[in-house]
Amino acid sequence: MKLARYIVATVILILIAVVILIRLPSVQDRLMIAGVNSAMLSSSVDLHDDSLTALVCGSRAPLPNPNRAEACILINAGGNYYVVDVGDGSVSNLRDWRIDGSKIKATLLTHLHSDHIADLANLHMNTWIAQSRPKRLDVFGPAGVELVTQGFEDAYQLDYQYRNEHHGNEVAPLEVVGFDPHPIDLSNPVIINKNGLKVTAFAVPHDPVKPALGYRFDYKGRSIVISGDTKYSENLIKNAEGADVLFHEAQANHILKIMEDVANNAGRPLGAKIFQDILTYHTTPEEAAKAANLANVDHLIFYHLVPAPLNSLMETVFFRGVNKIRKEWTAAEDGTMVNLPIDSDEIIISNIN
Ligand SMILES: [Zn+2]
Ligand SMILES: [Zn+2]
Repeated sequence: MKLARYIVATVILILIAVVILIRLPSVQDRLMIAGVNSAMLSSSVDLHDDSLTALVCGSRAPLPNPNRAEACILINAGGNYYVVDVGDGSVSNLRDWRIDGSKIKATLLTHLHSDHIADLANLHMNTWIAQSRPKRLDVFGPAGVELVTQGFEDAYQLDYQYRNEHHGNEVAPLEVVGFDPHPIDLSNPVIINKNGLKVTAFAVPHDPVKPALGYRFDYKGRSIVISGDTKYSENLIKNAEGADVLFHEAQANHILKIMEDVANNAGRPLGAKIFQDILTYHTTPEEAAKAANLANVDHLIFYHLVPAPLNSLMETVFFRGVNKIRKEWTAAEDGTMVNLPIDSDEIIISNIN
């Protein structure tokens, strides 16, 4: 009893001392120095140079969710990075995780909806200022990608000039500012073939968005397929055949129906119309599970979730029925990482947050 009283008194004294000390500028400065050191000098996330890796930098679609960015998957193939789609908030994730911008070799856009391109300017900035990018940022995408890159360049032309004048050409080199767009011609579907990595583009149905693409990454015997936005697609199944991991978009139409009814009852017919319109150009979780089975993929990861679950109850409702179709699946969050070591069959799934 005496000992307990002694411990309580000591803890109270320590707390009082901390409250007093933290008001002293010299103590505050020491804590700031330690904090800034830790924030600026901490090492970047290890994406495993001897692997094919996917890191989800955005797992939602336009419907808002406070803990998720819009569509984005970073692929690492032996130390070379490729960013597949770059929706709102995704570059903030990459920066928070201290992803090395100088390793980003290109951006691949699946299609030109806003939730896949909104952060392109921030990705450009992150690979330009004080980086070592040797050329303009390569952007692969469907026909029309050149309009998107031109638009971003026009909008940011003054920003490029201001930063170059302010920081100088060594920090903000004008020779490599902007984008090199590469519209994809599906009669030549292999868009990248170097350093052991082959990237193949294929068409997916997402009408009225035409063309819309998916991508397959093959690296030293390991493979990852990304669906992009699509309704159930035979062509995706064909192109995903035998892949280690399939990232497939998913939309829970049974939840959208509830949202449509709520919007109608609240006197918001325009909102209700949107929920009705989008029912037909995405894939339900059960359809995506079926596609993964038909393609014989080892693991299915649901991403681009519409609407992205806000809690575990909503997640249970979202994926209702999937376990009856297949067992090997994961629901992506921002930070979900899949590591496929070369010379191995292992699929290692973790979250870096
Ligand atoms: Zn989308
Ligand atoms: Zn879309």
